[in-house]
Amino acid sequence: MSDEANPFESLGKQIEEASAYLDLGDDVLTRLKHPERVLETNLSVAMDDGSIELFRAYRSQFNGDRGPYKGGIRYHPGVTRDEVKALSGWMVYKCAIVDIPYGGGKGGIVIDPSEYSESELERVTRAFATELRPIIGEDRDIPAPDVNTGQREMNWIKDTYETLENTTAPGVITGKAIDSGGSAGRVEATGRSVMLAAREVFEYLEEDISEATVAVQGYGNAGSVAAKLIDDLGADVVAVSDSSGAVYNPDGFDARAVKSFKTETGSVTGYEKATEELTNDELLTLDVDLLVPAALENAIDGELAEDVRADVIVEAANGPLTPEADDVLTDAGVHVVPDILANAGGVTVSYFEWVQNRQRFAWTEERVNEELERVIVDAFDALTTSYEKTDAPNLRTAAYVVAIERVANAYEQGGTWP
Ligand code: GLU
Repeated sequence: MSDEANPFESLGKQIEEASAYLDLGDDVLTRLKHPERVLETNLSVAMDDGSIELFRAYRSQFNGDRGPYKGGIRYHPGVTRDEVKALSGWMVYKCAIVDIPYGGGKGGIVIDPSEYSESELERVTRAFATELRPIIGEDRDIPAPDVNTGQREMNWIKDTYETLENTTAPGVITGKAIDSGGSAGRVEATGRSVMLAAREVFEYLEEDISEATVAVQGYGNAGSVAAKLIDDLGADVVAVSDSSGAVYNPDGFDARAVKSFKTETGSVTGYEKATEELTNDELLTLDVDLLVPAALENAIDGELAEDVRADVIVEAANGPLTPEADDVLTDAGVHVVPDILANAGGVTVSYFEWVQNRQRFAWTEERVNEELERVIVDAFDALTTSYEKTDAPNLRTAAYVVAIERVANAYEQGGTWP
């Protein structure tokens, strides 16, 4: 992984690139590239041995023109202020391309959660929720899971918020466990939209996905669910990886069996049906029909992109390609379905969870999946229409053209006051 590209600069370049196809004033463009505000806080938390440790944490509220700020909270030692700002911006354009009534936000704590006990993580989470309390709310800013956070952390945040506010407000956070007000289908939603985006792009390119070979980089919630559902379309998942390395079998894996192996052993490496073990970079440059980067930002930089042999990339992670990689892949004719559409299933079902919470009425999983499919297919159609109409160089720019236009319209219609 390249650590050279600053994700916030990458976001700025993506917006600049799309602005060439839009009629925007410089003032609006500048607004669209910068967060409205960023909370930076240092959490003092008691450890199990009685010592106090300090954790740096952020919440960036990028843009609220289309609705409450929305986006996950990640726990990772590599979290930085610029990374959180970029991720919050990507949320704005993600919510806009799938046309759900939210702005964008993102949070992060600089922590390696594997080094702390459950009770320490609970105290860290509750300390952050306490700091967040004045700036979040069902109609203000609605956090959700992201890298290394899930239902457990969301339930703690909901409980902290409700206790401090002396109310019930399940819609203050999404990605909760079902018994705490979560939605059916939320856990699988990100992987499901990756599958839908892959299905749609293959159809658009008049290729048969059931004949495709697939490599998946990252086998967490997004990657493993995407692999399973793409496997169900008849494609062959020939390589998967996690942070310890990659496994390969040209005849394809049973994606569910690899997931069970990882759950048991902690990693995909060592999986007995692999014919070869590879590095992550070797996986990313395999000669496959479809590549799904599902780990972190900057997985493919300009240099590695020169060696990419996949025909189609569907981004399950946020920001896995640097702008230089985008240029190389565009020149090479590789079709990239951008993160803001491909992984938008997570936030879309978060939206459904919030709607259900507000209505105090739960949908079936079937309804959730049907509505999700409609949202992703409609967004894909809007994207390809923009691609053909604007002559944008690639699908990412075409997606930003649609998304930026929607955000700018909401901003301009609101007018400036005072
Ligand atoms: N963290 C996810 C994302 O990057 C989901 C955000 C949400 O559900 O609000 O899209």
